[in-house]
This record gives sequence, structure tokens and C-alpha cells, in this order.
Amino acid sequence: MPQLIDPYNRHLNYLRISVTDRCNLRCLYCIPPGGCVPKLPHREILRYEEILRIVRVGAGLGITKVRVTGGEPLVRKGIARFLQALSSIPGISDIALTTNAVMLKERLDEIQSAGIRRLNISLDTLDPEKYARITGRDAFQTVWEGIGGALAAGFSPIKINVVAIQGVNDDELADLARLTLDLPLHVRFIEYMPMGEGPLEVAAPLLGEEILERVGAVGPLIPVARGEHDGPAVRYRFKGAAGEVGLIRPMSHHFCGACNRLRLTAGGHLRPCLLSDRQADVKGPLRAGRTDAELAGIFLDAIRFKPMAHGLHEKRVKGRMSAIGG
Ligand code: SAM
Repeated sequence: MPQLIDPYNRHLNYLRISVTDRCNLRCLYCIPPGGCVPKLPHREILRYEEILRIVRVGAGLGITKVRVTGGEPLVRKGIARFLQALSSIPGISDIALTTNAVMLKERLDEIQSAGIRRLNISLDTLDPEKYARITGRDAFQTVWEGIGGALAAGFSPIKINVVAIQGVNDDELADLARLTLDLPLHVRFIEYMPMGEGPLEVAAPLLGEEILERVGAVGPLIPVARGEHDGPAVRYRFKGAAGEVGLIRPMSHHFCGACNRLRLTAGGHLRPCLLSDRQADVKGPLRAGRTDAELAGIFLDAIRFKPMAHGLHEKRVKGRMSAIGG
């Protein structure tokens, strides 16, 4: 079976799929200046059966792990049936969902029935008013109930992704980490990446060392050994805690050397690096009736331009996170 090995000898086995560029939130870090988010026309968004075919082709090339993201995946109609179909693709052994959890509570049963166990939930604050300021929507309580429901239903792991932003939630990092003392959550702090849009670009970045310092106020951080499903997060635990704390440092300690990811955008492009605008059209050839072998060729071509490192320190990215898949 041909394998997806890029020119820097990285073995790519992980596909992140943005199933929609639509979202029910308007987060500070996703919205361009002026607040207007251009939407892809419906016909430009991959249909589920098209995504499934692309994933089957990827699985034939060694993709084993898939993450469904967006935009907000739970706003797309039929998502549970899609997740179910994804779970039944031979070779795909690990499926996770990234969501803002606004619609999670009402969807928990069907997501669980579709075979999803692993959830990543984005939550940057525990303060309902601040939540509304960050996301543009007064939905903290709904999200919190969704998290509670997911814990009660036995989803595991449940990772809470916190983008650490100077002047926005830097005063709350310890409180967010403290959640892990009693709850089996993995709270992961992510350095904010300047994507070239949004009102946060001017703020001095909050980087890993400082994040650890603030989180360390809760207690000594004990390193946790890396596990099979570990991505770029460095993991820690407080003594006796039910959950874990993680740190993801795309800016101060990028992990490109170990990157095993490809992305499929909502508009049907294969994108070898989140932070590089080079991508390959797969939707056009697919809709023009190309064979699976020809689509596999697009994967193999695309990985040739996966950059060695993201270069975000030198330039900005044109694509929007919602369409690329955060
Ligand atoms: N709607 C889903 C959600 O909220 O989880 C999935 C898509 S959203 C773009 C995924 C996540 O990407 C965000 O919550 C945030 O954690 C991360 N993200 C977006 N822009 C970012 C940035 N500039 N720097 C760091 N993380 C970012």
C-alpha cells in the first residue's frame, strides 16, 4: 500500500476535515476585521458522500486518524449519519470531533451512537459575560451543560481547548486548569496564532512559559508520559487530579518536525499545512469523474509541498480557520 510520506520523511496518517465553514459563534480570533465572514456558496462545499470518498482514498494511502471540525460541525445537517458512515470506513480507527459545544447537549446521544468517543471542546473562559464577548453569543451555560452531559455520558477523553490570549483570558488560566482537579477533563492551553485577521493581532502574545507559570499557581505540574494518541500537546497533571493539563505551543516551540496532518477544507482542497496557503483541489477532479487512483495521485502530489515548518513568524495566512478547519 503506498504511504503518505512527505519529502521530510514525515508519515502523514491524520486527516482533519472541515465539514462546513458555517459557525454559530463569532469568535474574536476567527472573525476578520469588520466582522463580515464571507461564506462559501453551498455548491462549493463538499457533500458528505464526496468527503467519504476522499477519506476512503486517504485510508487506502494509510490515513488512520480523522478529526471532524469546521466551522462548527454540529450546525451541519445530517452530521451524525455522516459520523456513522465515517466510522465504518475500513482503516479509519480513530475519529474525533472538535466542537464549540453550543449544540452538544441536544446531539450527545446521536454522536455517541455514531461511534464517537473523543471530543475536543473549545472554551476560552469560565465567565459567562466574557464568553459572550469572545464568541458574540450568550451561550456559556449551554456549553457548560453540554460538557457536563458529555462527562455523564462517558465520552473520553474530553479535551477543553483554551486559546490563551493576552488581555482576554490571561487572568483565568489557573481557574481553567483548576477544573482538572475534580473533573476528568484535559484542559489544553494553546498559544494564539496570528492568522492575519481579527482584533487580537496587536496584543503581545502570551507564550508557553508564561502560560505554565500562571497554571503552575494551582500546584506543581507533574509531567505525564506521552500516549499513543498524543498530538503536539505536552501533558501535565496536578497531584491527585482527576484530569490533565496540556500545553500546545505552535508559536514558541512549533512541532512541525513531528506533524502528521493533512487537512481537507470545506471547499474541497487538500491542505498539507494549516499555516501555508498552498493547497490542492480535489473537489474539481472528483466532480469531473476522476478515478480513485487519480484522486490518490492528488494526495501524493499535495504532500510534496508540505513545508518543513509553518513560517508563521515571517508571514500571515490568507485562508480562514473556519473553512480550513481549526
Ligand atoms: N467550531 C469548532 C470549535 O469551536 O471547536 C471547530 C472550529 S474552531 C476554528 C477550532 C478551534 O481552533 C478554536 O476554538 C480555537 O481553539 C482554534 N483557533 C482558531 N483560531 C485560532 C488562532 N488564531 N490561534 C490558536 N487557535 C485558534
